[in-house]
Amino acid sequence: MSEIKLYSTLTKTIETFKPIKTGEVGVYSCGPTVYNFAHIGNLRAYVFADTLRRMFEFNNYKVNQVINITDVGHLSSDADEGEDKLEKGAKREHKTVWEIAEFYTNAFKADLLALNIEIPEKMPKATDNIDEMIEIVKVLETKGFTYSAGGNIYFDTAKFPNYYNLQGAKPKDQDLSARVELDQNKKHPTDFVLWFTQHKYGEHAMLWDSPWGKGFPGWHIECSAMATKYLGEHFDIHTGGIDHISVHHTNEIAQSEGAFGHKWVNCWMHNNFVNVKDGEKMAKSSDNFLRLQTLIDADYDPLDYRYYLLGGHYRSVMNFSYEALDGARNARNRLKNMLSGLKNEVAEGKDPILRSELRRAQQEADVNDKYFQLFTEKINDDLNTPEALAVLWSMLGDKVLLPESKIELTKKFDDVLGLKLLDNETDAIPEKVTGLAQKRQVARQNKDWSESDKLREELANLGYEILDREDRYELKKK
Ligand SMILES: [Zn+2]
Repeated sequence: MSEIKLYSTLTKTIETFKPIKTGEVGVYSCGPTVYNFAHIGNLRAYVFADTLRRMFEFNNYKVNQVINITDVGHLSSDADEGEDKLEKGAKREHKTVWEIAEFYTNAFKADLLALNIEIPEKMPKATDNIDEMIEIVKVLETKGFTYSAGGNIYFDTAKFPNYYNLQGAKPKDQDLSARVELDQNKKHPTDFVLWFTQHKYGEHAMLWDSPWGKGFPGWHIECSAMATKYLGEHFDIHTGGIDHISVHHTNEIAQSEGAFGHKWVNCWMHNNFVNVKDGEKMAKSSDNFLRLQTLIDADYDPLDYRYYLLGGHYRSVMNFSYEALDGARNARNRLKNMLSGLKNEVAEGKDPILRSELRRAQQEADVNDKYFQLFTEKINDDLNTPEALAVLWSMLGDKVLLPESKIELTKKFDDVLGLKLLDNETDAIPEKVTGLAQKRQVARQNKDWSESDKLREELANLGYEILDREDRYELKKK
């Protein structure tokens, strides 16, 4: 296996990955705040983290991955201002915060499954880990990193050297001063709340006892506590969207390294945004809020979206459009069709001449090995999924490789890509489509040809071709 190379946001270079424990890797990925559905831009972070996970598994690593669920304490701004997102969701939907959290946690998990994202080893909830958060705040207090103001406990960022390391440079003063206007208790604009007992938006529904009074944790401390609980005080990789670099992850590093007194995470990795057509960042607050379900309702397979994402490098901005998604759907369908053709060839035992030629067999083995090496190289090179996909395409188009080798290699590649390329076509056909096909079969039996033609057209509009056999039919994705 070739070396694994990953881009580190902290050092801004591609680094050769060296695990803390041989053969194992610990990865923490910031999870969702469960107050609404995820938009498709959010989901890129989890497809990226899943590809990272699958790449390590492909390289025979034992992966220990944590994705947390933020069900308390994340205010509308990442810098601790505004209303609590969960409380806001509860008001909007006339439910309790607990009901909101449960509903949207389940919706998030359903999205992960639909995108064929492997469920991580641990998915802890912030509200189950309040004691761990309080412990870290206590240590920070003992070490002199905190101050109390207006009833809240703040982290004093001036006390932490290298506070701006992750972002590379200190932001302009005017960008920072916007924050302090909203919270006069802060000594410095970058200081952040570790524990709230006072909240200007009134009563908070979720409250816990603490040495500083009844209250609730700040958002940043949650990730430090949950990551450390499951991965230890020093672990391999922390991931998230690039929007987390300047505040959330900068603060996670400050409070964790402040408390532990040593390096916390070896490699910080960040995925870029998915933009909609007008070039705006896709955010839930704006109207262009696209959910995975929006795509499913438009008859896309969630894995078409996964293919679309893999077509771009995780560090590049992607500009989402339905035309691009159509391109991804067609490409994935073509791959699936090619593979089902190959499966038929294997079943029919074609190609006897090739099999009997020894010289040819040796050549075949070499070519097989070449594609495997090439794919490994690409995926181990900072997850170069666009080029890894290109290797898959050229491998399937190769003239020397036998159909069974192509299928075997696809299996291995798809363990990393997660596109379910070898699943039986019938598994992937939506119910709506099979329903229409059955209706058409009945129409044919009744010799109602105009109805049958109408249904054939409807199926065609949904991207399916119907092939009539003697007494049955076959559906094929176009
Ligand atoms: Zn986080």
